[in-house]
Amino acid sequence: MTADVIVVGGGIVGAACAAELAARGLTVEVLEARGIGGGATAAGMGHIVVMNDSPAEFALARASRELWHALGPQLRERDAFTRCGTVWVAEDEEELDAARAMRDAFAAAGVRAHLLDRAALREAEPAVSHAMHGGLLIDDDAIVYAPCAAQFLLTSSPRIRVSTGCAVRAVDAGGAHASVTLANGEQRMAAHVVVANGLAAPELIAGVPIEAKKGHLLITDRYPGMLRHQVLELGYIKSAHHARGTSVAFNAQARPTGQLLIGSSRQFGTLDPAVEIDVLGAMLSRASHYLPGIGALDAIRAWTGFRAATPDGLPLIGPARFPGDRLWLATGHEGLGVTTSLGTAQLIAAQMLGEPVPFDMPDIHAFSAQRFAKEHADG
Ligand SMILES: Cc1cc2nc3c(=O)[nH]c(=O)nc-3n(C[C@H](O)[C@H](O)[C@H](O)COP(=O)(O)OP(=O)(O)OC[C@H]3O[C@@H](n4cnc5c(N)ncnc54)[C@H](O)[C@@H]3O)c2cc1C
Repeated sequence: MTADVIVVGGGIVGAACAAELAARGLTVEVLEARGIGGGATAAGMGHIVVMNDSPAEFALARASRELWHALGPQLRERDAFTRCGTVWVAEDEEELDAARAMRDAFAAAGVRAHLLDRAALREAEPAVSHAMHGGLLIDDDAIVYAPCAAQFLLTSSPRIRVSTGCAVRAVDAGGAHASVTLANGEQRMAAHVVVANGLAAPELIAGVPIEAKKGHLLITDRYPGMLRHQVLELGYIKSAHHARGTSVAFNAQARPTGQLLIGSSRQFGTLDPAVEIDVLGAMLSRASHYLPGIGALDAIRAWTGFRAATPDGLPLIGPARFPGDRLWLATGHEGLGVTTSLGTAQLIAAQMLGEPVPFDMPDIHAFSAQRFAKEHADG
């Protein structure tokens, strides 16, 4: 055996799993086809945000955010971890009611959240359109530069060995051990294999229900102080998880450099990484509705990335095929995988080592890969 555990994929999820398993005394070999953090991890916004779409996601995001807070002081300047908070903007009274409901749900779970009336929104974020009706401030959300954080996690223990440019062609866990076959035909063995290769998981484990959700982002030149928090429209919640067609929503982040990172779009049914001018245009037009000054800013670069989405929007975290399997899945984190990477790693480690889940989790089966197999069996 080359290690106790082989992790396939060196994105933020694979890196977090490797760091957590190594912290528990296991030796870990990470096999990454390209470079560390070069997949969805490099393409995303790195907003560490608590979302409460479902009780399971809420619990995972809350616990993960705590873990980021604990890790934050160890991170380096280039990891750009900042506890900037989130401001959700309400466009009308209906959205302000939604903000109120969100605040109540957050308060019940001990998540600090404050309703902002028009004046308070203006004070918190003067550049946001004064036509907005208010918002919700979540104090403890944060941002991080995820590709660097992935690299940091992979150097956190001498028990982690990383090979880049090392594509895995097949995984197997038929016998007493698990194994992987590399693209060059070489075999590596371990007690367990964690498949954390994002969108490409179905290439290694047939039937994993992952679909690509394309997203566009744009970064501007430096405009320090223009925004103070990560700022999103409340409508983002609808568009992020429920729309099937192409949708855009306003989402902007003040980078520590003073640049603004502006998103975002969601598209199914394409694997073409090209920047689409009509989608980018719709995204920026939406953004200018919330941030009227945006038209005067200089853009530096636009790019796209692909979120790995499951049919119910929840990740796949646990044994890949059946309870007790030596093959594990840690993928399908869609638009929340930077946030939930650290909690995911704890769930994988706890299940692998037969320990209790280390945080309050209403239903760990909500993330089980078998939930989709059951759906098929039930017709
Ligand atoms: C536009 C956009 C905005 C986003 N914004 C946010 C945000 O603000 N907050 C948030 O929490 N999340 C956000 N996300 C989501 C987040 O980026 C992802 O959920 C997260 O990065 C997934 O990490 P991962 O490690 O699972 O996947 P990836 O980063 O894709 O890593 C998988 C790795 O596996 C490697 N790989 C693939 N196949 C193989 C193989 N056969 N052998 C070896 N290696 C292989 C790939 O090269 C890749 O490096 C966003 C995503 C996008 C696209």
